[in-house]
Amino acid sequence: MNKIPILDLQPEIQFLRDKLNAAFQDVLHSGQFIMGPQVKALEAELADFLGVKHAITLNSGTDALVIGLRALGINEGDEVITTPFTFYATAEAIQHVGARTVFVDINPENFNINTETLEEKITDRTKAIIPVHLFGQAANMTSLLALAQKYKVKIIEDVAQAFGGTYRNKMLGSIGDVGCFSFFPSKNLGAYGDGGLLATNSDEVAEVAKMLRSHGSKRKYYNELVGYNSRLDEIQAAVLRIKLPYIQEWNDKRRQAAAYYSEALRDIRGIQVPQEESYGKHVYHQYTIRITNGKREALKTYLEDQGISSMVYYPTPVHKLPIFEDVHESFPASEQAAAEVLSLPIWPNIQREIQDRIISIIKDFIYR
Ligand SMILES: *Cc1c(COP(=O)(O)O)cnc(C)c1O
Repeated sequence: MNKIPILDLQPEIQFLRDKLNAAFQDVLHSGQFIMGPQVKALEAELADFLGVKHAITLNSGTDALVIGLRALGINEGDEVITTPFTFYATAEAIQHVGARTVFVDINPENFNINTETLEEKITDRTKAIIPVHLFGQAANMTSLLALAQKYKVKIIEDVAQAFGGTYRNKMLGSIGDVGCFSFFPSKNLGAYGDGGLLATNSDEVAEVAKMLRSHGSKRKYYNELVGYNSRLDEIQAAVLRIKLPYIQEWNDKRRQAAAYYSEALRDIRGIQVPQEESYGKHVYHQYTIRITNGKREALKTYLEDQGISSMVYYPTPVHKLPIFEDVHESFPASEQAAAEVLSLPIWPNIQREIQDRIISIIKDFIYR
């Protein structure tokens, strides 16, 4: 039997092959590889799609977070609140600008930052909160915006896993002061290389972000800030322009695949299927179950032995990573999630037969 990867991009690449080849040829013929017409058109299309004033393409999602923090004026001595149950880059960006990362545990139901325990972590040094819309599901933006207003702090949404997801009918990434997206190939809207995006409605933030992506300059060879080289290239922009028109349909197909898994796995003891919050549209970057009987590793191995890939996002909560060795606090919900979660194969056109095979292997494991 064929091996099943956690994500299969080949069906999408086959489907888009002619369009991709034509676009590659166009870019090659244009001879413009950086900051050309593809990037310009993509930025307009993304701003329109997300409903924001400015969509600024960048080299990566990590750079979007760093540049977002800097464009909001966050630096040494400041504190930024985020979740320890995320990809390391979220906290890494905070450390990068010299600020201190302050962790708030997750809500075990949706894996997102717990807005009920967040307030007690706000001090006069707190300048921003970074909610991560983990696995494709929105954090509680109503509570976050209320806290932001009360304490005059900024909200930076980490939307790396949730392109096209919504919160109360608004696009994620368009709600806070800044939205930071990743176009890493495995993300819901992925390039075929690295890429990222900063979305904002603020003219000032947009101006600084644009400077920071090009060595801190507004015009060539007149550099005003210590910036970065963080531009998206024309080839990746062309790829993203081809994929953007399909993203809603692809996200809906991910939702259908997720519903199919949940229907089959819901009533199995020892397994908890993902919970969908009624306030938004989950776009299932990952389909993540919990194995609550302590046998997560055994199930992962059992699947692996039968050719099924599964992944643990994330095995070590960020506060337990070496750079945070001075953080002695514990975050029990994050630690429990790290011990229980298992992400199963999902992509927009995953075949039902593949899902059936995975479901039956999981049932075998539980009931054997
Ligand atoms: C992927 C990801 C990032 C970083 O994006 P890159 O484009 O890989 O730099 C940041 N935060 C989260 C939650 C991610 O999943």
